[in-house]
Amino acid sequence: MTNKLDYTTPSNWHAYDVEHIWHPYTNIAEPTPVFPVASAQGVTIRLADGRELVDGMSSWWAAIHGYNHPALNAAIETQLQSMSHVMFGGLTHEPAVRLAETLINITAESLQYVFFADSGSVAVEVAIKMALQYQVARGKKNKNRLLSFRNAYHGDTFGAMAVCDPVNGMHSLFSDVLPQHYFADAPECNNQGVADVRQVSQLIEQHHPSIAAVILEPIVQGAGGMRFYCADYLRQLKALCEQYDVLLILDEIATGFGRSGSLFAYQQASIEPDILCLGKALTGGYMSLAATLSSEKIAATISQGEPGNLMHGPTFMANPLACAVANASIDLLFRSGWQQRVNAIEEQLITGLAVCKKLAVVNDVRVKGAIGVVELNQAVDLHWIQPRFVEQGVWIRPFNNLVYVMPPYIINPEELKQLTSAIYNVLSEMTAIAPRELSNC
Ligand SMILES: *Cc1c(COP(=O)(O)O)cnc(C)c1O
Repeated sequence: MTNKLDYTTPSNWHAYDVEHIWHPYTNIAEPTPVFPVASAQGVTIRLADGRELVDGMSSWWAAIHGYNHPALNAAIETQLQSMSHVMFGGLTHEPAVRLAETLINITAESLQYVFFADSGSVAVEVAIKMALQYQVARGKKNKNRLLSFRNAYHGDTFGAMAVCDPVNGMHSLFSDVLPQHYFADAPECNNQGVADVRQVSQLIEQHHPSIAAVILEPIVQGAGGMRFYCADYLRQLKALCEQYDVLLILDEIATGFGRSGSLFAYQQASIEPDILCLGKALTGGYMSLAATLSSEKIAATISQGEPGNLMHGPTFMANPLACAVANASIDLLFRSGWQQRVNAIEEQLITGLAVCKKLAVVNDVRVKGAIGVVELNQAVDLHWIQPRFVEQGVWIRPFNNLVYVMPPYIINPEELKQLTSAIYNVLSEMTAIAPRELSNC
């Protein structure tokens, strides 16, 4: 078999992509633009046509150290010399054990068992399974539903979809075939950082005999709306979970490894989850790997019940290359002075994005750790806005009415300024044309 396309210039194969390849959440009949990438280095994504873009997305929270990092490359190259993969059924290897030890040491003391999954969504599936198996094992098989939140996002597989926001969670189409769970209002706090948990506490009080676990993204709700909330909410929720015998699953797939300003977001509330999901930045954005950690109590109870085994085991679980690069990425994080870097990014995002508040299309500007969000009062048109950002020399990928950045921690002040200026420039242009666009509707 030989390829018939001419791969010597990107324009020759780019058209094939448009005709044959699904990109995330796209319509093949009305494709939004996709830009061929030649390489990526540090915070720079170099397009095939030679243009260079400052990366504002960390490839969806993952590439916290930037691209093509020598230490991460070396970890993979070294691991490749011994083995790229072996099955995890009946076999084990040093990279996996090292990573488990590290994750257990850097997360909450109660978390003592690790399940390695191959993507974030699968880590969430495993977390849900653990919670359900735990309740069955202790004779509480009626505790078989979850309590989630409006604006939640936990992934795209069926179990994970069922705990995403039922309306804006991008999955309402499937609601008939999804298990039905309870949904509380999105977490809210007042300006003093005091949470309002009246509604969620009512739900828990009323339904706890059928609730296995509460699942939520601590401090930052990501793809379901890029909302931030206060630590007090988590503290009060944890107390409710204990009071009503409900497990607490925290999904730190987006927030883990420093993004929200602490190594893990739940640490801001000084609480411990029963189950914790990690992913995205776990490998520094190199490979797909995720992990679900649980307490000893959960692991022991599942194992004493029927069938005793935790019923999950992906083909590529604990892939050695992925574990090796995860080990190197976490080492690098601790050596990198990430806390100061994230704090500096936060300060600069606050000042750099403040000017956007005066634009008529802007509803709200908010910053938390190395995450900057500009919420608009209308959804963006990706056909229009994506090329504008590329013209400005930045890679920023909005969704719905949210223009947001979470850059690699290695970004320098000039590069970060390029991101915030580009957002202001493009949104100014959008403000200028918005009335005309609106009147066309
Ligand atoms: C991205 C994300 C997931 C899903 O992870 P995938 O690796 O895309 O399957 C789950 N939960 C949260 C909070 C996420 O941000």
